[in-house]
This record gives sequence, C-alpha cells and structure tokens, in this order.
Amino acid sequence: WKKCLDIIRDGLHNLQSFKTWFEPIVPLKLSGQELTIQVPSQFFYEMIEENYYSLLKRALMEVMGTGAKLRYSVLVQAAQAETPVVARIPEKKGKHTPAALPKVISHANGKQTKEAQDLFANNVHRFESYLNPKYRFENFVKGDCNDLAHAAAKSVSETPGKSSFNPLVIYGGVGLGKTHLIQAIGNHARENNKAKFVMYVSSEKFTIEFVNAIQNNQAHEFSAFYRNVDLLIIDDIQFFERKEKTQEEIFHIFNTLHQANKQIVLSSDRPIKELKGIEERLLSRFQWGLTADLQLPDYETRRAILQRKLEENSATLDESIIDFIATNMTSNIRELEGCLVKLLATASLNAKSIDLPLAKNILRDSVRERSQTVTIEMVEKAVCEYFGISANDIKGKSRKKEIAFARQMAMYSAKKWTKSSFKTIGLHFGGRDHSTVIHAVNAIDKNADRSEEVRNTIEELHKRLEIMSL
Ligand code: ADP
Ligand code: MG
Repeated sequence: WKKCLDIIRDGLHNLQSFKTWFEPIVPLKLSGQELTIQVPSQFFYEMIEENYYSLLKRALMEVMGTGAKLRYSVLVQAAQAETPVVARIPEKKGKHTPAALPKVISHANGKQTKEAQDLFANNVHRFESYLNPKYRFENFVKGDCNDLAHAAAKSVSETPGKSSFNPLVIYGGVGLGKTHLIQAIGNHARENNKAKFVMYVSSEKFTIEFVNAIQNNQAHEFSAFYRNVDLLIIDDIQFFERKEKTQEEIFHIFNTLHQANKQIVLSSDRPIKELKGIEERLLSRFQWGLTADLQLPDYETRRAILQRKLEENSATLDESIIDFIATNMTSNIRELEGCLVKLLATASLNAKSIDLPLAKNILRDSVRERSQTVTIEMVEKAVCEYFGISANDIKGKSRKKEIAFARQMAMYSAKKWTKSSFKTIGLHFGGRDHSTVIHAVNAIDKNADRSEEVRNTIEELHKRLEIMSL
C-alpha cells in the first residue's frame, strides 16, 4: 500500500488532494491479489471512484500485477448507501468495454481538456451564459419574505465556490423570484470577474440537451462542457424528478464541480425533501450547502415592488391604486407586475391618467376584489362570534394570546373584505395606530403561509362575512 501511495502521490498535481483523499485510507487486508481498503465514508468512496479511479488502478497494477483487485470498506455508511463492496479493477489488461468502466473524467483535478475548452468556447460564443441581464440584485426588492435567500445569494455571487453555501438552493412557489435571484448571482459574479465561466440552464433544457447528446454520441462532450463551468446555475430542479439518466449525469457533474470548489446554485419549487423520484445520493448532495426559501411577499414588500417597477418605467400611479393592487394581489409577484403592466399599457394607449375606479375596471379580471358590502361592524361581529369573545376584548388592551390573535384577525379581515383604510380600521378597533393594523395584516399573512389552521380560520371568517353581507 505504501508503494501504491508513492505512485499516487507522484501522479497527483497537488499534495492537498493526496492529503485529503489518500492519507485517510487504511489498508485493511490483502488476500491473494485482492486488497481491501477502508475509506471514512460513502462520500469518500464516491469521490475516489469518480476522480482518482484511473490513477488508483495504475498504482495497484504496477505494485500487484495485472490481476489486482480492489475492495472498499466504508467506515461510516450513509443511511441509504449502496453496497460498499466494489471490485472494479479488471483482471486482465487490455481493452474493456467503456460501459464496464466508471466514467473517467477527462480533466480530473481541474485540468481542462482541449476538447472541453473548445466545446465551451463554441457554446459561449453561440449562446453566452444564457443569463438575462435584466435580473439583477439592484432591482430585486428585499423584504422579510426573502431575507435569507437574498443575503445568501449576494454572498455566493461575491465569493462563488468559496463559502459553505455550496450548493445554494433557493426554493419557493411560482412567481416568487427564484429565477430572478439565481440569475442575479450569475450576472453579478460575471460582471465583477468573480467567476469566469458562468452557465445558467433550466433543468428542462439541460435534460433535452443531454438526451440529444446521447443520441448524437456526444455524451462525453456534454459532460466535459458542464464540468468546466465555474458557476453552474440550474433552474427548477423539480423537473429532474423521475429522470434517472439525467440525474446520474448531474450527480457526476456535481461531484466534479463541488470537489474543484466550483459554485453550484439550484432552484426548486419545493423543499428538497419534498422532491419525489430523485436519487437519495443526489438529494443528500443538494442539502450539503445552504437551502433558503422565498416566502409570499408581505404587504409592504408588495408595495415596494410596485413602487420599484413604477420607477423603472418612469411612471406614477395614485397611492390609492398602489394600495388597491398591493392589498389584493397577494399570491404571486409575477401577477403583481402583470397588473401594473396592464394599467400602464392602458394609460399610454389611451393617453390618459388612471384613477381608482378606472384601475379597478381594468383589473377587474385579475383582481378578485374585496366584497362591496362587508362593513367593519360585520367583521367585528363575525370575529367575536367565531372566537367567542366580546367586542370589548377586541377593542381593549388585553395582550392575552387568544385575544391578541383574534384582534389581528379582525384587522386583517377588515382590510381584506371591507373598503376601510388602515387608519379607519385602527380607530375602530380600540383607537390604534395605522401601523398596528399594517403589522397585524402582515402577521396574519405570514402565519397563513405557515399554518393550515390559520388559513382555515381566514376562510371560515370570509364565508361568514359573505353570508352576512348577502
Ligand atoms: P419564479 O422563478 O420563482 O417563478 P421569477 O423569478 O420569474 O419567479 O419572478 C417573477 C417576476 O417577479 C419577475 O419579473 C421578477 O423580476 C419579479 N420579482 C420577483 N421577486 C422580486 C423582487 N423581490 N423584487 C423585484 N422583482 C421581483
Ligand atoms: Mg422561474
């Protein structure tokens, strides 16, 4: 084993790789020509197989002859690891079918092959990085809903591959800014020379390209191409569900990039744990770094986004209209933007300024407007009945949990289903400040995201209000 190590050390480009991957190996036993080595973990085993297979094979054959066989014993096994015993050294020298061998990376240890560089250069030339320059940090509005995701994205764009946020996974529902944020990482890193080769690709496109590559006998070039990227951004990885072949390819690309300290950024429409039909070893890798979510934006963030978009278009709208959109479009930033675009388009087509009634008319189909006839008194009654408390409780000063929650729910419902302003609502419910009402609306919005119980309460109150207003 010592002799093997000498050969391996000579064959490696840097001492660090040797220290990392070979020093921890313990030779366990030698029987006949079969050597068993112990590696610390499944991950170790995979990394060695992936990156140092040919070197290891050469060393063993040199020392033990061509009949050498190797077995791995994995010290700590991952919960669902595959059988750890592997004998991959062929018994005879000579040609073996490529399928029988693990894929050997043509540029292990970060050395790029000419072929891969050429392919990459072609692609860069043809398609650039596929990044859309309009997605930037500068026009991404920060809020409580995207705090962590935004901070992590910024950090990764400054030092790609160098933090422990590798991979960085951003998840969240449709239209909440995943694509915007992960492309902003790419644009920032590229423009500030933090990463040379940046590649943005949707999972769908990746899959199609991969399938095409196989059909055209270019799978090797395909792999080589992606393994040369410095910052790889893959959008909507839920699309990889049940695509086994593609997952295997991703697995190898991931290993190569991760080991070479290249940054990987992924987005998903769900938490990683909820992805179905994705190999365990991939799922676990996806969770090596940092996972951050994008929540539904709260009222203030919705307003800020609208303001921002207006500025970008050098347009203005009446406060009441902004409030109307921000109050009613709660579930999706893309739709929020859509409303604005619709209004601005109509305004410019008709060359007239827009007031609230006209805005409501234009957005009639997009916005399910608050009921016309629900009053603040109805809300008070409905909430009191539902929670079994008195109007004095709601209007009073009690900070008891149930009462405080009912009070917030009353303010929330009033904002949602009546036409009252924050100020009016605050005054009605115990002479409170309008900012207290804004806070209550946001608090309930946020709770509703997380708790089904809260969502049910909202729905039940809404139902009762609708009946009352008939
Ligand atoms: P997703 O990929 O999650 O479906 P997108 O990134 O496509 O969502 O976002 C939808 C639209 O909303 C885009 O036009 C995007 O620019 C915009 N958007 C999303 N989040 C923000 C934000 N925090 N600030 C500004 N614009 C945003
Ligand atoms: Mg997207």
